[in-house]
Formats: sequence, C-alpha cells, structure tokens
Amino acid sequence: MQKFQNFWNGTETNPSPANTFPEAAPSAAVLSGASPAADRGGLPVLSGMSLSELEAALAGFAGTDPYRAKQIFARIARGASSFDEMTDLPRPLRRRLGKTFFLRGSRVSGAMEDRDGTVKLALTLADGAVVETVLLRAPAGKAEGRGRFTACLSSQAGCPLGCVFCKTGSLGFLRNLEASEIVEQFLTLAALVPPGEVSPGQRGISRIVVMGMGEPLLNLSSLRKALEILCDPAGSGFSRRRITISTAGICGGIMELAEKGPETELALSLTSAREELRRRLMPGTAGNSLARIKEALGVFRTRRGRRITLEAVLLGGINTGGKDARAFVNFARGLDAVVNLIPWNPVPGLRFEERALQPPSPKETEEFRLMLEQGGLKVTRRYRRGRGIGGACGQLGGILPNQGDSAAVRAFPSLS
Ligand code: SF4
Repeated sequence: MQKFQNFWNGTETNPSPANTFPEAAPSAAVLSGASPAADRGGLPVLSGMSLSELEAALAGFAGTDPYRAKQIFARIARGASSFDEMTDLPRPLRRRLGKTFFLRGSRVSGAMEDRDGTVKLALTLADGAVVETVLLRAPAGKAEGRGRFTACLSSQAGCPLGCVFCKTGSLGFLRNLEASEIVEQFLTLAALVPPGEVSPGQRGISRIVVMGMGEPLLNLSSLRKALEILCDPAGSGFSRRRITISTAGICGGIMELAEKGPETELALSLTSAREELRRRLMPGTAGNSLARIKEALGVFRTRRGRRITLEAVLLGGINTGGKDARAFVNFARGLDAVVNLIPWNPVPGLRFEERALQPPSPKETEEFRLMLEQGGLKVTRRYRRGRGIGGACGQLGGILPNQGDSAAVRAFPSLS
C-alpha cells in the first residue's frame, strides 16, 4: 500500500520522465478501506445502476412516471454527463434528481493521444483514486480500418498480482472498481469517437477488451454488473460477443465465468507455460497451477462454447526459447485456442530478478511464432498501439497530464 500511496501522491521515484501527473491523492476514506460512496456523501451513482435498479430508485420519487427510468437509462447510455442535458425531463425533476443522485462519479483528469490515434484517459474517481482507460483505433489502411474502435477498460485501481513485466503490477493494489466506474470508462471513451469515422450501420465502439489496469476476475461481481448495464438493449445494447475478458489465470474466476457468465470471450495471459518461470514472472498467480488453469479453461470451453485466446508477452531472452515454445504447445493442446503474441512494450525501470527487461528482437519473435505454428497452433500478432503514450499492453499506470494539442485533449478543454 505504501508504494501505491507514494505513486498517487507523487512521491514515488519513477524512472519514467513523464510520470508527473497525480493531481489527486486518494482520500482518507479509500486509504482506510472505506467505500468510495463515502466520498460522494453517500449519494448513489446512476451510471452504475441496471434499469431495474433505476426503476426501483425512481419509484421513491412521488409523481415520477415509471417510463422516466427508461428515459434516463437511455440518456446515460447516449453519453449525458449532467442532468441539465436531459432536456426531455421536466426541470423540477432534473433539479430533484441532482439533489438525490450523482449521474457519474468520475471525471477526466488527463488525456493523451498517440500519433497512431490511440487515446489514453486518466479518470479520477470520487475518492481520488486514478485509473487509466484507452481507446484504440484499428490501423489505418486496413480495409476494415474505418470505424473500428476498441475500448480497453480497467477493472481495478492498481493490481495485486504484481507481474514483473507490467507497469500496473509495479504499483501495487488500491481497490476494486465499482460497476459505475467501469461503465463510465466506456461512456467517456465512446464520446471521443468522431461520428464521421464510424462506418454506416456501426456503433462508435465495436469491441470492449477488459485488459486495462487490474485482474478482472478478482472483481467479477462489479464487472458482471457493468457489462450487464452496457449490454442492455434499453441502453448501449453492446453485444457480449464483442467483449473479451483477459485474465492472468484465476481458476475460481474462470470457473465462475463458465457457470454464470457473462457470455464473453476469454483470453488467458499465459506468457510462460513453464510452471517455475511463470511463477517468477507472474508471482501473484502462484496459487493457480497450470494444470488447474488448463482444467478450468476446458470447463469454460465446454460450457460456453467460446474460443479461448492464449496471450504471451514476449520478453527478450527470457521466454522465447525452444523449451518455452514446446511447453506452450503442450499447454495449448486440446484447448482449440488461438495464440496472440505481444512483444513486450517497454516500461522503464522494470526488472526480472537481476536483469533489466527488454523487448524481443524481431528475429526472436518470428522464430518463436514459427515454433508455435510448427507445433500446430494458430498464431496472431497483436498490433502495437499506444506505445508512444504509455497506453499499450502492460504500460498503464504511468499517468500523465494532458499533452499536446490533439483532438482528444481539446475534447476536455477544462484540462488544458
Ligand atoms: S499483467 Fe494484468 S494481472 Fe499482471 S500485474 Fe499487470 S494488470 Fe495485473
């Protein structure tokens, strides 16, 4: 906790030259483990309510027509950020709502845009905790490039798993996010998609990946609720099939997903299929052996019928050799999985035991890919987006102030 506290109040000595941001330290409430609701004066946040909860909450408002809940739910999904924007509601009702509820509980406190079009936002939550969230744009020039935006959402402030190659993991863990704090990431990113860039018939954001800060399966109840809200046809109506949850391998969470859903895609950040090496690279997953993880994935595959993705963060000279590839192929056997290779995105200062981490060379990556393919696996390489702003996989947590004069920065004029 101390390390994390230092990060948020700006006293952590971080080697990243740009790590100057934290304008808001977490409140005493959050550092003492209290709910962020305490920092909102106990007022509930509407963005984190399902339609039925909203209906129940508004039922207490004497004289409020029942259809108002649906109206408000839809307006929140369309991006309303204040009750004043809901001009289709009578003014007295808007005033009363404003005294009783928060519409949203977070605010944008930093924005950066990469040359490749990736946008990273810092959201400051009600208790002063800060999380990052990212909007990725499909590479230009691809036939499907126009109108393909992906929201990469965070599920926790920090992360308890401490993977050695991950910036977020180096910060420690502050707390789980509430459903509203996950929903609001999506709503804020959706507002950034330029209408002219969306292909006809498509919505602004076409995919959600829960691969930002934190381990989603350690916050499954909030995540489940957030996705339920985002997928409700009365609101954003997002397709569950266009959502991927990525886990570092929490067996209990995978089993729960298999049993109760939500009905999403699943990715396992495997990185090494050598038990002992994996334990050193991803120490927080040590209680989940590879055998148990594989068993849980098998149950998920059978119950949900959804294809699994195995991800590997490739670390130069560490997990890219022949025995790494053989172990990977052995692990993947029978899972009918697709493999996604992610050459490590540099984070200054991160080390694996005595050595500084480095990305694999292109040759190393290519040879590893060939070995997996020769072992019968289907392999893809993830596009590297957002590296210039610390917004790529494994880089979240080096929160930055607004920089430059990009469209994303201008979208939040109060920050410039
Ligand atoms: S890679 Fe994922 S699970 Fe590991 S520390 Fe980073 S955020 Fe947590």
